[in-house]
Amino acid sequence: DEDLALLDHDGDDVDAEGPAAPLPVLAVVGRPNVGKSTLVNRILGRREAVVEDNPGVTRDRVSYPAEWSGRRFTLVDTGGWEVDVAGIDARVAQQAEVAISLADAVLFVVDATVGATDTDEQVVRLLRRAGKPVVLVANKVDGPAVEADAATLWGLGLGEPHPISALHGRGTGDMLDAAMDALPTVSAHGVALPDGPRRVALVGRPNVGKSSMLNKVVGSERVVVDDTAGTTRDPVDELVALGGKPWVFVDTAGIRRRVHQTSGADFYASLRTQAAIEKAEVAVVLVDASQPMTEQDTRIIQQVIDAGRALVVAYNKWDLMDEDRRPYLEREIEQDLVQVQWAPRVNVSARTGWHTDRLVPALERSLESWDTRIPTGRLNAFLGELVAAHPHPLRGGKQPRILFATQASTRPPRFVIFATGFLEPGYRRYIERRLRETFGFEGTPITISVRVRE
Ligand code: GDP
Ligand code: GDP
Repeated sequence: DEDLALLDHDGDDVDAEGPAAPLPVLAVVGRPNVGKSTLVNRILGRREAVVEDNPGVTRDRVSYPAEWSGRRFTLVDTGGWEVDVAGIDARVAQQAEVAISLADAVLFVVDATVGATDTDEQVVRLLRRAGKPVVLVANKVDGPAVEADAATLWGLGLGEPHPISALHGRGTGDMLDAAMDALPTVSAHGVALPDGPRRVALVGRPNVGKSSMLNKVVGSERVVVDDTAGTTRDPVDELVALGGKPWVFVDTAGIRRRVHQTSGADFYASLRTQAAIEKAEVAVVLVDASQPMTEQDTRIIQQVIDAGRALVVAYNKWDLMDEDRRPYLEREIEQDLVQVQWAPRVNVSARTGWHTDRLVPALERSLESWDTRIPTGRLNAFLGELVAAHPHPLRGGKQPRILFATQASTRPPRFVIFATGFLEPGYRRYIERRLRETFGFEGTPITISVRVRE
């Protein structure tokens, strides 16, 4: 019985550990099949092989607490960051670039039995540019016979190659000693690493500035090259580090590849918007602040809400704004957004870059709300007070009684109320308003459903 399952589920996720100084971050970087996952498992001391035979399988976790000779650090395994892009080299380079930018030191893994490939060289260039400490790991040196192969990796110009066998454990101790020497004791990052990149969609009607915004926010960080077979193909999703965290901007190919105005273009644009929203956890709806809001803008905002995704509204082209018009405009915007007063709004200019740094904090606020779970006890205490202060109106001499409520899910928060009768829409809206006033939920849609119990 689904209802009983809901009742059993309390879902209090209390984190016993308080905030601590951020641990230094060691990222394991390298092209596929060099043995990164095997090495991560070895460092974490996991006996069972968690190596994925199935490429493209997305592990839900990419950073792990680890320890070596009494030093604690965060180990980042980029193998879990599968982004769906054309061209494997571009993908490796993107993942490596983001991992490097988040890391305090890097374990760069090369397969000694294969030697340095073009992709390896590409990663070396990224490492040089980043200037982070690097430990060069020559993996698959299972025995002395392969030692000579490892020595050829001096040619990469990253210093001494450390020959190891991630599979058998040979040489890993010495290599980790070197890594600990390279790793600072405290992270340069002020924040703890998340478990994986969060997925963002930039949506909005044509010409609101999606492509300009993408270039402004993502452009400078992005790896553009994909020289596999001389083709230049747009990655579908782009992985970038912003504010010390990895983010995936989904379906960016459609934004970058300007579609010509042909018949049916609107239809495809709308399909693409829907697809991008579905793939994302949070959507930024861009609106052109220099023009009155249109029905299409409202429809796109509604698409995000209906899909149950977190939302940020960005009023772009603010540089075109006449300061005299501003008070008037603020009132107009408030009216336009009356249905989504709960969404964070940022006024930005993709052209000048003005306030674009406010986008990431807004995304984070919305996602945090989207992830929020209200413990069942607190929720019922809240409802008890709400009902006592403002009971459901009497209808035909009857009054439905609220028995119990629980948050059935997060992402977005969904609430189920068990009651003795149907609750009026107005009363449900009242509950939603009070839920938002009490618990925040800035930037996330929430839903309330009612199950009638006799
Ligand atoms: P990743 O794609 O870089 O994460 O690579 P994996 O850890 O999945 O390893 C790719 C393959 O190389 C697997 O079949 C591993 O068993 C194998 N492998 C990893 N490390 C070693 C090693 O030290 N020696 C040998 N002989 N094989 C290894
Ligand atoms: P998209 O169709 O949503 O990807 O929109 P584009 O990024 O291609 O922008 C459409 C037009 O608006 C281009 O001419 C941009 O230069 C311009 N534009 C985009 N953002 C801004 C902005 O913040 N201020 C101004 N003044 N123009 C902008």
